[in-house]
Amino acid sequence: MLLTISPDLKTLFLSSALSRGTFLLVFLVLLTSQPKARYLRHWTSALIASTIGLYITVEFADHALLPLPVAFFSYSALLGSLVMSWTGLRLFYGRAVNLCVIPLLTIFPSVLYVLGVCLDFREQLLLPMIYAIAALAAGLALFEIIRTSGQRLLTPYLVAAAFALYFLALAVPGILILVGLLPAAINISTLPAIVFDQASSILVYFGYIAMSSERATRDLRQQATIDPLTGVANRRGGHSTLEQMYRRRLRSQHCSVILADVDHFKLVNDTWGHEIGDVVLKGVAARLVSSLRYGDSLVRWGGEEFLIILPDTCVGEAKVSAERLREVIAHSPFSTGATELSITLSLGCASMDAKDLNYEESVRRADKALYRAKGAGRNQVC
Ligand code: GH3
Ligand code: MG
Ligand code: MG
Repeated sequence: MLLTISPDLKTLFLSSALSRGTFLLVFLVLLTSQPKARYLRHWTSALIASTIGLYITVEFADHALLPLPVAFFSYSALLGSLVMSWTGLRLFYGRAVNLCVIPLLTIFPSVLYVLGVCLDFREQLLLPMIYAIAALAAGLALFEIIRTSGQRLLTPYLVAAAFALYFLALAVPGILILVGLLPAAINISTLPAIVFDQASSILVYFGYIAMSSERATRDLRQQATIDPLTGVANRRGGHSTLEQMYRRRLRSQHCSVILADVDHFKLVNDTWGHEIGDVVLKGVAARLVSSLRYGDSLVRWGGEEFLIILPDTCVGEAKVSAERLREVIAHSPFSTGATELSITLSLGCASMDAKDLNYEESVRRADKALYRAKGAGRNQVC
């Protein structure tokens, strides 16, 4: 195996090693702040493996042939960095990882390589095996990202681009060596290879950090607008939906709201306890959600009060919907484990008016209607 290097390349190696060292520092800090994030451990291991691989390459760059133990560690490190990147991505997306697959795809191929050399197999066959497994790991990492494209995160595509490049940079030379169009050598110490590796590794590790941060921000934003008990939008989430509807009504699109309040809910708490009360609230929210039309939203407006936002709906249609929701709750009792409880709702409907100064006016009208429904004996729509 012929490896040549010029002083220029040494500078590049140094800068590559420096950027990896800096990333390692960032990952170690991230790991201390999020010790439970298993994917971070895998990505840090990938980074360590690729740094070790880089040091070995620098150290033995002037050698025409890598000594066998060095080849073993070098190839294990190269494969390890890609395989641990892939397993880290699986963990990041909440998929299971069988840890046995890691030595199987890293140490086992390197052992096969060493055995092959000892048994006088041609390098032209052995090297493409290493290239093929490395390309497989890069391809698997790419696949994990592409199959999760529904999560509406953008940063994973940075990492996906890098793995697509790694895949090509590994698969193409592997094939060319196999068919004899390239000399049988791992050409990771040529200028284009180092530049490529440096750019891709920055893309990958910077991408990982960006992915974690983008997802954490999205999760926090979601949590801030979701009611933890019922899993439906909370009042903050409701306000942003109402705001959108309010803007739509200026384009003369009807929109209505229904305010629904559980009747005599205090009695449920007082008789059966707060925990049973919580079970009832969850059950009411679940029944309401499953009876909404496509596009309608349910909001837990307050304790036992729910707001239903109905886009493209006039007040007459909203009343029909409210009647349907009333029946859905009243028609069969709620099973709470301890007992079966008959629950009813009182509902008030109102539409957003073009003259309204803000969306709160329609909610206020719905509240007044709800008050009338309570006054008229509950379990009804006004
Ligand atoms: P009305 O028919 O007039 O609406 O009577 P009500 O008893 O439903 O109304 P009231 O406002 O007197 O009582 C509401 C109760 O809802 C009081 C409060 O403790 C209870 N509550 C509010 N939030 C929760 C919650 O998250 N869990 C439980 N279990 N109870 C809650
Ligand atoms: Mg009530
Ligand atoms: Mg109430």
